[in-house]
Amino acid sequence: MPFLNKMPDLFSPVRYAKGVGERKAVLLNRLGIRTIYDLLWYLPTYYEDRSHIVPISRTSPGKRQVIQGKIHLITQLKTQRNLSIIKAAVKDDTGVIYAIWYNQDYLTKILKRGERIVLSGKIDWSFGERQIKVDDFELLSGKEEDSLHLKRIVPFYPLTEGLSQRNLRRIIKNNLEDKSSYLVDVLPEKLKRRYCLISFKEALNNIHFPENFDKQRKARKRLVFEELFLLQCALALRRRRYKEEEGISFKVGDGLIKKFISSLPFSLTSSQRRVIKEILEDMSLPRPMNRLLQGDVGSGKTIIATIGLLTAVVNGYQAALMAPTEILAQQHWLNLKYLLKPLNIQPTLLVSDLPQREKRTIVEGIREGKISLVIGTHALIQEEVEFRNLGMAVIDEQHRFGVMQRLSLRNKGRSPDVLVMTATPIPRTLALTSYGDLDLSVIDEMPPGRKPVITRWMNEKRRNLVYQFVRERLKEGRQAYFVYPLIEESESMDLKPAMDMARKLQSESFPEYRVQLLHGRMRREEKEEIMQRFRAGKINILASTTVIEVGVDVPNANVMVIENAERFGLAQLHQLRGRVGRGKEQAYCFLLTGEKISQEAVQRMKVMCKTNDGFRIAEEDLRLRGPGEFFGTRQWGMLNLRIADLVRDSKMLFLARKEAFQLVKDDPSLRSHPELRENIKRRFDTRLELAKVG
Ligand code: ADP
Ligand code: MG
Repeated sequence: MPFLNKMPDLFSPVRYAKGVGERKAVLLNRLGIRTIYDLLWYLPTYYEDRSHIVPISRTSPGKRQVIQGKIHLITQLKTQRNLSIIKAAVKDDTGVIYAIWYNQDYLTKILKRGERIVLSGKIDWSFGERQIKVDDFELLSGKEEDSLHLKRIVPFYPLTEGLSQRNLRRIIKNNLEDKSSYLVDVLPEKLKRRYCLISFKEALNNIHFPENFDKQRKARKRLVFEELFLLQCALALRRRRYKEEEGISFKVGDGLIKKFISSLPFSLTSSQRRVIKEILEDMSLPRPMNRLLQGDVGSGKTIIATIGLLTAVVNGYQAALMAPTEILAQQHWLNLKYLLKPLNIQPTLLVSDLPQREKRTIVEGIREGKISLVIGTHALIQEEVEFRNLGMAVIDEQHRFGVMQRLSLRNKGRSPDVLVMTATPIPRTLALTSYGDLDLSVIDEMPPGRKPVITRWMNEKRRNLVYQFVRERLKEGRQAYFVYPLIEESESMDLKPAMDMARKLQSESFPEYRVQLLHGRMRREEKEEIMQRFRAGKINILASTTVIEVGVDVPNANVMVIENAERFGLAQLHQLRGRVGRGKEQAYCFLLTGEKISQEAVQRMKVMCKTNDGFRIAEEDLRLRGPGEFFGTRQWGMLNLRIADLVRDSKMLFLARKEAFQLVKDDPSLRSHPELRENIKRRFDTRLELAKVG
């Protein structure tokens, strides 16, 4: 097939691209461009419309315009404040304008009298003369005059040192021409027609060098669809592969599960019941489950995980729950111990800092199958841990596990069922891309009787007011959290601010109450003991770093004060706030910030005060930060989208997903779409292979 023979060419290293040698290849690599295909998909971040050159006499002050003329006089001035100004008179047939550059002395060597130049910038009238504050210019060396950089809509790319816009434009243009015959359509004709999409070749040409902005929009639409469609096809194929694997067919509806549910001090919400049904249905099928469970903080995911784990255990298999931090693992362990007591099932905790001997006993117990239910951290996926028959793995995701880590837990068994849980909701668009090969279960309702937490954003200066309020709650017998932002709690981090604050809270502000500091670098027993005492009400105020972010569940604590709240992201603030509002009492959260905080931080505080709905907060978070920041760049980088924007193009995403899944359903190995299959393989397979567990 001729097409397939060309494919390797398009995906060959960029140093073989036209006009790119070893040296330029290094520069392009720095921009993340590895192959020729990458180069053609290296898209402009903006354009400048240079198709309309304005005659100098017709320029209008206040506007950004493009002019073209000949350089006459060049002068260099120094102002009092040591600002250096270069000023050049530029003339065309209609008049003269003064081009102004600040602090770019080297330009005196480049700008030459008599040369022709194109300038873009803001037009200004100053002291009776026409000026242009230059933000971009190009000298016209004559022959290139009507080529790439002028008299057209001109693309601008992110650059790296040693590579100019002109260089890059030229390279891309040359290769668009050189590879022209390889730029074939991989989209099914039917879809192109259905969504009025232009051809791939036309789209690439017009995204780089648009004939006009209408064409550019059509190009973008086509490429966005292509990108999302290919990704969704890859996900659909992967999902399909799971479904073909042989898995464990668990017997569900065991009496013990019913007994467990009836032993709970509350009845399940209808959302919880629906999700449990979805999970048990999956577990009963002879194929591995790969499911993502989404639910807001406090929506009751733990019970659901427990039922899944329990089902595996009563079927004679082992079950494991992995959490990203020790404190959370421990919390889950305590929780499950308590929940499973009526059934006489004992979960085991496995974390890294156990005494050697104890750890060895546990590892042995897991290998021999004596331990049927284990809760742990990364310690679970260490090499020495081998399961006899792992049947069910729950991963409390918290966005913190790398894909590889999730994969390795799954590989501890033979096609076990896997349930991934998120701590806070992920926007639907992100879930469908990052976890798009998993089946999705959503808890969209809170246990009854929960009152939304009342949240107030306060200036630090009103700290005393907040303390007063906290004191009143303590008098009523409630407990409080104070949270300090320590982003990294690893070796080098300075814990001093948190310690100082805890000391001050105790000695100055709340001498009559018991204040206790909690941070991530304490020993495990110490943390465990503190949490026990807090749960038992023996500690009134827990002054903590973000270790309490996840899992901690003390219904009697109904006030939270978050210090330097501007330093936290939305997801984290929402997680933290989720620690309160778990009891019958009205709960409160105070966000203390300094006076001067960024515009974005202001937005975050406002969102927090406005809503308690994790799904809405997640959408805002995505809008404010973009997917990279939202997920942690490393993880997101796996699916790096080049053009599609999950906020702006969400409609397109849903369409692309629908079509991709339909296509893979009709033609599971894409036999009748070999180009498409080849392209997906080249573009996504290496990256998605890693993402096996989702
Ligand atoms: P998350 O989804 O954040 O993990 P949890 O599973 O920790 O939430 O549940 C939060 C709290 O709500 C726990 O104290 C749990 O016992 C309680 N809970 C869970 N389901 C219900 C329910 N249906 N009715 C009342 N309380 C519930
Ligand atoms: Mg939880």
